[in-house]
Amino acid sequence: MERLPLSRLIIISNRVQPPTGEGGGNQGGLAVALSAALREYSGLWFGWSGETVDAFTGQLNLQRAHGVTTATVDLEEHDFDEYYNGYANRTLWPLFHYRLDLTRFERGFEGGYQRVNERFADTVVPLIEPDDLVWVHDYHLIPLGQELRARGLGNRLGFFLHIPWPPTQLLRSLPHHRQLVEALFAYDVVGFHTEEWLESFLHYATSLMGATLGEDGRVTVGDRTIRAISCPIGIDTESFVAAATSEGALRAAERMRASRAGRSLLVGVDRLDYSKGLPERFLGYERFLQQRPECRAKVSFLQIAPPSRETVDTYLEIRAQLDGLSGRVNGEFAELDWVPIRYVNKGYGRETLAGIYRAARVALVTPLRDGMNLVAKEFVAAQDPADPGVLVLSRFAGAAHQLCDALIVNPHSPDELAEAINTALQMPREERIARWRRMMDNVVEEDVLWWRRRFTDALEAVTAA
Ligand code: UDP
Repeated sequence: MERLPLSRLIIISNRVQPPTGEGGGNQGGLAVALSAALREYSGLWFGWSGETVDAFTGQLNLQRAHGVTTATVDLEEHDFDEYYNGYANRTLWPLFHYRLDLTRFERGFEGGYQRVNERFADTVVPLIEPDDLVWVHDYHLIPLGQELRARGLGNRLGFFLHIPWPPTQLLRSLPHHRQLVEALFAYDVVGFHTEEWLESFLHYATSLMGATLGEDGRVTVGDRTIRAISCPIGIDTESFVAAATSEGALRAAERMRASRAGRSLLVGVDRLDYSKGLPERFLGYERFLQQRPECRAKVSFLQIAPPSRETVDTYLEIRAQLDGLSGRVNGEFAELDWVPIRYVNKGYGRETLAGIYRAARVALVTPLRDGMNLVAKEFVAAQDPADPGVLVLSRFAGAAHQLCDALIVNPHSPDELAEAINTALQMPREERIARWRRMMDNVVEEDVLWWRRRFTDALEAVTAA
């Protein structure tokens, strides 16, 4: 029986993106997941509007759409530079994705990060009622809980990290790392996608903060005890399965069938980000074409990569690198009637994507490091049960802990990628079905609703202060 939530849920994340439906473009994984969660809960979603103004006013814009109330606030231009483009996307994102080489440490970024967290706290506190569950999302807002507590909030507070948690020795290269981790102890429940990220967090807490570990993930530092849990995010499976057989999906699948002209379609769908392993993927595909000349005319690779964070220089660099690589591979292998890589810098809505996934024989989901990776799960959900495609999945994606029946690869190795592409193309239908069935069971069982319940159950179980 459907359980009625007793408390309101207040979700706080950097961006607020209520569901937009087909044609919504490249709505990120977090937005897709939270839209699904908020469709059922009463409550409020608070965050940045995405707009900047000359001077911060704290003026709230309240709206109700698709059954969800949203409250947004504009930020100043230099908040955007220091907090969003700075500390979030130039410091924490690369560091937490193991890219110390791309990580920038600037005092101004850190100041901006703290300032915006304080501004968020000032603005959202009046909207919160005593019984509300407050659920803060992601690396942009780690200190928010502490700021809310400093303003007298006694509510149950949860935090979920959507990206990996880095190993202790890597995290130690961040100036004031301890301050950042201490801020997590203002929450009651802290969630990570996988046991691996959870263990890294516990390693830091026990080895550098003298934390003691108790039952059910309890972690105590000084007079604060929190629960640290692993809670892998899922997709809105039911609606994605429906999307895969919608009119829009059928149209997209038909377009794919016509364009691949009898060839097997390999597909990749990723935000254009250096964590996604796109150059390595192109090199793996190039290796496959070099090693198997007989397969050249039998495959077609479509890479969809909508640009993101275009004001950050490393994102422009990866784009230039991929332009060069795709040009090189196409220059080397193209024929009059065939281009090996179709590389598209554009975002698509979910029905179109679902149709593309369904038309594909193989999905290449090969990030170098990824908190979860929802595309992997969407690909599984979109398959035709009678003739499913094969998922090639990086062992460094959080999703690899659940989708063990994918062809698991090391994305750094072009030879391993080439071999996996070949195995996927050769795989007999019975094996494809058997692997897909087991993956689909997981995608159905551990969907976004399961994820949300697992987290909010943990939060509801906390005795209010
Ligand atoms: N996505 C989309 N249109 C696109 C490309 C991606 O809607 O053209 C969606 C995709 O369906 C998935 C999300 O963006 O739901 C990406 O989530 P993922 O966890 O794979 O990666 P993230 O971008 O959050 O790092």
